[in-house]
Amino acid sequence: MENLIERTAQHLAKCQYAVALTGAGISTESGIPDYRGPKGVWVKNPEEERKAYQIYDLFQKSPEAYWQESLENPRFKGMLKMKPNPGHYALVELEEMGILKAIVTQNIDNLHAKAGSRRVLDYHGNLAKLRCESCHSRYPVEEFDLKKIFYQERKVPLCRNCGYPLKSDVVYFGEPIPQDIATLSWEEAQKCDVMLICGTSATVYPFASLPFSAKNRPGVIIVEVNAEPTPLTQDKISDYLIQGKTGEILPQIVKRVKELKKE
Ligand code: NAD
Repeated sequence: MENLIERTAQHLAKCQYAVALTGAGISTESGIPDYRGPKGVWVKNPEEERKAYQIYDLFQKSPEAYWQESLENPRFKGMLKMKPNPGHYALVELEEMGILKAIVTQNIDNLHAKAGSRRVLDYHGNLAKLRCESCHSRYPVEEFDLKKIFYQERKVPLCRNCGYPLKSDVVYFGEPIPQDIATLSWEEAQKCDVMLICGTSATVYPFASLPFSAKNRPGVIIVEVNAEPTPLTQDKISDYLIQGKTGEILPQIVKRVKELKKE
């Protein structure tokens, strides 16, 4: 493993444009369970997975029913109170060194931004925001007193720009990826010469197609940091896998990159 950490640090120290792709695994050490890891929410409770496929449909049929369900059964309760862990902070350091240019994350937990990362593309949305599906405006969720709007005013939150009903910025199953984020993320995958893939099972599409699009360009180095092998490992889309915890491995990589930059 030390050898792979050294190789990754060498690539990062001399690259022009590194991009990180992250998934639920980078946040498990902050206390947020993933879906498909050994202790994943869906592995333990398959009913949750079934429900997750229905919520977007509910919004489309009835924003009122969607907000009732969301307020009565908050799916991600407590997530916005969680704190970043050393894996998130290691990526902040890489960005501050001018090496990491962007993070494309599947996570909705806002932890990269909370840690201090500046360029974060929330591929599956962000729980800390509401979004308008009509004009694509986004708003910080704390700007809306959702319980007051729904239970006292008997309304749903509306877009201040166009008046359309708002939903969470979170991208639900069956919901298209917002076009702005999809385009920017694809562009990042086209620009990078090192792609660091951290804590994702790489099974959710179209996110999982980003490494394939990077791999099409000669010379791109793709490194996975994950607790277990993934389809990217098996199909040799990644050059190698550093197997273990992101909160332990990413800080070691960054420490070594710093040493190399001083040499
Ligand atoms: P996933 O659950 O499918 O896979 C997580 C992967 O990370 C697994 O391979 C697991 O073995 C690995 N892992 C777990 N802990 C790790 C650690 N400490 N270090 C390294 N690897 C670790 O997650 P996914 O690929 O992100 O896909 C799930 C979908 O669910 C995503 O679309 C995401 O939007 C959503 N989700 C988000 C959160 C969050 O925001 N924190 C949490 C759960 C699910």
